[in-house]
Order: sequence, then structure tokens, then C-alpha cells
Amino acid sequence: MPEGDTVYRAARLLERSLSGHRLTGSDFRVPQHATADLTGATVVETVSRGKHLLTRVAGPGEGERWTLHTHLKMEGAWRVYEPGRPWRRPAHQARVVLHTERAIAVGFSLGVVELLPTHGEDDVVGHLGPDLLGPDWDEDEALRRLLEDPSRPVGEALLDQTRLAGIGNMYMAELCFVSGVHPATAIGDVAGLTRLVRRARQMLDLNKERAVQSTTGDLRERERMWVYRRDRSPCRRCGTPIEVTQRGPAGRERASYWCPRCQPEPAS
Ligand SMILES: [Zn+2]
Repeated sequence: MPEGDTVYRAARLLERSLSGHRLTGSDFRVPQHATADLTGATVVETVSRGKHLLTRVAGPGEGERWTLHTHLKMEGAWRVYEPGRPWRRPAHQARVVLHTERAIAVGFSLGVVELLPTHGEDDVVGHLGPDLLGPDWDEDEALRRLLEDPSRPVGEALLDQTRLAGIGNMYMAELCFVSGVHPATAIGDVAGLTRLVRRARQMLDLNKERAVQSTTGDLRERERMWVYRRDRSPCRRCGTPIEVTQRGPAGRERASYWCPRCQPEPAS
């Protein structure tokens, strides 16, 4: 599952490659929009909202404004190629292709591809909490939403995009570690939740322009994270082996990583 900073980078790529350009072709390879055609429309902009991408176009019809809503989900990615150059991923994974004279943008294995009138964007992103990387970030509102259910495990609350938007499994694990909090701790019992949320914003912000994400500041393979995907490796602070287990609501469990010494289990 991509994190908010990955989605932010995808938005920047599309923004640089497409904005201001007229579409010379479009190809929707999803059943519900198989006949959609944006040829002749001009790309206005692409913005990220949490983990959602919104590519706004003007046209193709007079006065029309459409939004292409995409979501990377587990395996998705946007790539941009020069016309005539080979794609680096199999063509059968393409879900939507946008052509301009200079560039071909291909959305591979996207979890969501949806075309909607721009005025209807709230229907698809209106439920999101404040966006950690958004221009309208609102810390007080994020804290208020997080604490609406004080008994909820902090790890689960941080992943809930309706509380604050942008944190995936990786940053959840890393944030709990650097805050010395076990992911199962009730969020109402987390001392310094404001600091944790500020760190979340810092982590995403530091990584939003980087191709390789790191929360430790070390860019070497296996050294980039404190605990995420480091199960059985020694904790970088105390040497205790990092543990992993599945946590979360039934049916939506996710791997959760923690150091049993630096992040003691909450008293139950
Ligand atoms: Zn430790």
C-alpha cells in the first residue's frame, strides 16, 4: 500500500508531464469507462488528496470539466514515457493511458479509475481527514478526529484515512516506534499525540521528493527503517529482535512491526 508521499510524487509527475497540454488520445481499459474519450481536452492539473489522485481536465466538450480519479491501492503506479519508447511494465497492466504530443502517461494496476464531473469530487474524497501533505493541513482537526474514539488502537486510528489522510502501514509502524508507543495502545492513552502527528507530517514531507523512502535518515538497504519489515532483525536502538503480527479490524488485518522493549505492550 503506497504512503501519502508516494502518491504526492505521482501527482507531481503527472503535473509536470501533462498540465497545460491538450490530450491527443485517451484509452480507458476498465469496463465502466471503456468508451470514455478525453481526446481534445486540456489537462488543467493533478493534485493528491491523501492517497487519491485527481487529474482535472477542461473539455473535451464546451464548458465541460472532468476529473480522473485514480488510486494506486496495492500495486498501482503512474509512469510517463516519450511517445514511441517502450513501457517498462507489461501493457496488460495498463488501466488508463493519456496521450499528449510529448508524453504518454500510463496508469498501471490502479485500484481505482473513475471519471467524474469535477464538481462531484467531494463524493470520492470528501470523507478524508486533513491531508498531511495538503495545502489545507489542519492539525487541530486531525487530532480531534483521532481522539473521537479514544479507546481505538493508535495503529488502527493512524491508518484510518477519515481521521487524517496519508499514513500507510510503513509510516504507521515507524511513527509508533519513534514515539515509543505500542501499536495496540489506546489512542487516548498516547502521551504526546500532537508530537506524533507533527512527526508524521515531517516524515512524509522529508520523503515526498525522494525516490527512496527513509525514516532513519540512512538510505542504505535494510537501514532505511526502524522497524518496518525488519522482523527478527535487532532493534536499532536496543538490539531486541523486532516482532511482527497481524493487527486490525477483522478482514482488514495488516502486518504490524514493533520492538517489544522500546514499545512496551499496553497493560490490559
Ligand atoms: Zn528496541
